[in-house]
Amino acid sequence: MNQTADVIVVGAGVVGCSVAYYLASSGAKVALVEREAIGSGASAHATGSLSILGAEFSPGASFELALAGYRQFIDLVPSLESETGANLLYQRRASLRLALDEDEVVLIKAMMEWQQQSARIRWIDGDEVRRIEPRLSPDIRGAANEDESAQLDSYRLNLALAQGAERHGAEIALREVVGLLTHNNRVNGVQTTGGDISADMVVVATGEWSSVFGDWLGFPVPVRPLKGERLMLRYDGPPLPVLISSPMRGHMISRLDGLLSVGSTGGRDYDQTAMFATRESHVRPTEAAKLELLQRAIDVFPALQDAELVQQLAGSRPLSPDRLPILGPVPGWDGIMLATGHTTKGIHLGPITGRIISNWILQGQPDVDFDMNPFLPDRFADMTQADFQLSGQRVEE
Ligand SMILES: Cc1cc2nc3c(=O)[nH]c(=O)nc-3n(C[C@H](O)[C@H](O)[C@H](O)COP(=O)(O)OP(=O)(O)OC[C@H]3O[C@@H](n4cnc5c(N)ncnc54)[C@H](O)[C@@H]3O)c2cc1C
Repeated sequence: MNQTADVIVVGAGVVGCSVAYYLASSGAKVALVEREAIGSGASAHATGSLSILGAEFSPGASFELALAGYRQFIDLVPSLESETGANLLYQRRASLRLALDEDEVVLIKAMMEWQQQSARIRWIDGDEVRRIEPRLSPDIRGAANEDESAQLDSYRLNLALAQGAERHGAEIALREVVGLLTHNNRVNGVQTTGGDISADMVVVATGEWSSVFGDWLGFPVPVRPLKGERLMLRYDGPPLPVLISSPMRGHMISRLDGLLSVGSTGGRDYDQTAMFATRESHVRPTEAAKLELLQRAIDVFPALQDAELVQQLAGSRPLSPDRLPILGPVPGWDGIMLATGHTTKGIHLGPITGRIISNWILQGQPDVDFDMNPFLPDRFADMTQADFQLSGQRVEE
């Protein structure tokens, strides 16, 4: 491992590996530093849903970022698969956001009003939903039908991005970053358990573990882990032809490996203590989540009563106080950028984050045609820890 690089990327989840991939593809000398293993954080547990329909995106820059993030996969997947030989289990399909009661009808239609301005989404009634998939519940009242969305295996994506970055010359070091090398409000590199590494720029992509960098910099980097569980089921019968989600019952997606992913638990499923509990409890699957997720899935797709539970996954999301990613330079410091806090959308937004941060570093500005202000770290300069409680409760999927 070289002890100098142009850019050090800390954290090898989907976000860090995306940043490393785009930087290395553009010719930068990159050191990707990871303390455990590639894909050992949140990115290994994600559903891999790439849809703009959920409640996580809001009008304006958030939605623009989501659309750009979605489009980026269309080119990225074939090039990454051909560069690395990986199969990302990527599928592009229509999706349905289902309403099973009047509250959900109102909620979904309200969101459609602004979503329709940028994407092809229409309302269909319950009968039309069941014409698309006759096995769905007779209780479904209608759905937002998005022409196209996608899903892939997030762990495979994580590994392929790391491999792609390496093929373009990035060096991967399995060490923990334990401090920053600084001089006169400039970051010059990192201290690791395997020695110091110097660089012109450090990118913090450490997901839920990012706040320690804020402690070192004396600037808030407000990211906390928020627990999430999901299930993988096997059932008799053909796969679902569309990607399904609902505001109160989460997602239901037939993966290309034949398994059905259902979930996920979110803020509404845990009390405040469990929601922000220890790392150990976050990766521990619970009986309560299993029963709840199975019941929600059966409500939507009754035939799942006879399904086999193949796997239960538990992980956590890097929650930011407003659930938007934290992207860009740290006020008062040179030589450091944040790429963290992606909450429930770090897979969907990982590659676009990689491209934005790479361009920002190499060209001096992000190459997007929307306002980056809502994502800048300085929006949290005055925040208090209490802001997290509300934000966690709002995470529904
Ligand atoms: C149940 C569930 C379902 C989800 N479904 C979706 C979905 O369908 N779509 C979607 O877009 N997102 C989804 N998410 C959210 C998504 O998983 C996260 O937003 C995303 O994985 C965050 O990626 P990351 O690279 O920022 O963090 P991580 O993947 O957590 O990576 C951070 C890395 O940094 C490393 N690290 C930390 N500190 C240090 C240090 N000091 N030195 C070196 N390395 C360090 C860690 O070991 C880790 O490998 C889901 C999450 C969960 C839990």
